[in-house]
Amino acid sequence: TRAPERTDAYWMPFTANRQFKKAPRLLASAEGMYYRDTDGREVLDGTAGLWCVNAGHARPRIVEAIKRQAETLDYAPSFQMGHPLPFLLAERLADIAPAPLKHVFFTNSGSESVDTALKIALAYHRARGEGQRTRLIGREKGYHGVGFGGISVGGLANNRKFFGAQLPGVDHLRHTLDLERNRFSRGLPKHGAELAEDLERLVQLHDASTIAAVIVEPVAGSAGVILPPEGYLQRLREICDRHGILLIFDEVITGFGRVGEAFAAQRFGVTPDIITTAKGLSNGAAPMGAVLVSDAIHAAFMQGPEEVIELFHGYTYSGHPLACAAALATLDTYREEGLFRKAITLERYWEDAIHSLRGLPHVADIRNIGLVGAVELESRPGVPGARGYEAFARAFHEHALMVRCTGDVLALSPPLILDESHIDRIFERLAATIRATA
Ligand code: PMP
Repeated sequence: TRAPERTDAYWMPFTANRQFKKAPRLLASAEGMYYRDTDGREVLDGTAGLWCVNAGHARPRIVEAIKRQAETLDYAPSFQMGHPLPFLLAERLADIAPAPLKHVFFTNSGSESVDTALKIALAYHRARGEGQRTRLIGREKGYHGVGFGGISVGGLANNRKFFGAQLPGVDHLRHTLDLERNRFSRGLPKHGAELAEDLERLVQLHDASTIAAVIVEPVAGSAGVILPPEGYLQRLREICDRHGILLIFDEVITGFGRVGEAFAAQRFGVTPDIITTAKGLSNGAAPMGAVLVSDAIHAAFMQGPEEVIELFHGYTYSGHPLACAAALATLDTYREEGLFRKAITLERYWEDAIHSLRGLPHVADIRNIGLVGAVELESRPGVPGARGYEAFARAFHEHALMVRCTGDVLALSPPLILDESHIDRIFERLAATIRATA
């Protein structure tokens, strides 16, 4: 398949991102750890697509499952008659989720999962007679998708400042990295419990009785891979418990083995009230998201008092048959190939490899956990993202490596099927790109 003639940025029908403007790069096919572009060049996938293809590309079992499902039942209208697969998939998710989170609500993306989770939190308090709890707390630099709920609780300026007034009454925790930079150190940054006291500040400022929920990414991805300082998530949990506030983990990128467990909640030993997921759930092979909640929250949202039964929420494609088939085959693949443990078994090797980039030109910090990595480059004064985007995106393509350039951060999150030789290749190509662009 050749790229069509007109490829200027304003024509791109799938993103407002201007990265493509000068050098559009289009993909034609993919298999395992590799993409192939429309010129036939093989590109090593250092980002699992967009943090989603955790089991690698075009896995025959997943492809077959989608094909079979398309031939059998292509669509079921979720509001009239369902079909069996969402029930099976919900059970499978409950099996791997932290113990109390046994209920599932299906969506089609991370953004929809976030909006759904925020609505569930508000409905929960209302059903308990605490309808005044409407305030939502996010975090500076948080990324929670592009819906109005997600950009309201999100904290990345470019994602929100062009879109006028958003959800009222939202406030944001202070961003943890500005307070505690990692600076090439390995492991989690320190003093997390103290940093989490920032939530207590917001509780005092707004009064706990007005706050419905706090939403954070356990590892913030889009902001440039920001690790939770030690004790940070635990302390947030304690403060939420003390004040009757729900804690939501946005696990859209950390879910499905990225940090060595099914969910980051398990890796960090902190159980939130709600988990949002998408991406790795269906291995990128079909759009799908899911929100995981506990019994009590589910009861309030789905089966509460009269007033709440009238509540409506759901998408035309919630629990879509093809997405369910893809997700079931994906979960089978994760289990049979032990992929959730890969980010633990390879963590040390990955860490040594990424830290070998220290000392290369302009490298200002390195951060990693599980099979996630970030190389932060020095920014030019007053020019955020000066070294990212176009020059880097083009150079990476020349070196046949897919890396996510966000601002001054080069982020990595490879498919979990990789082995040590892939890790070597990723960092050889990354180092060559950084040298070439210096
Ligand atoms: N939340 C987080 C933490 C994400 O990283 C993303 C996507 N990168 C989203 C939500 C939004 O997901 P989607 O693009 O599928 O809407």
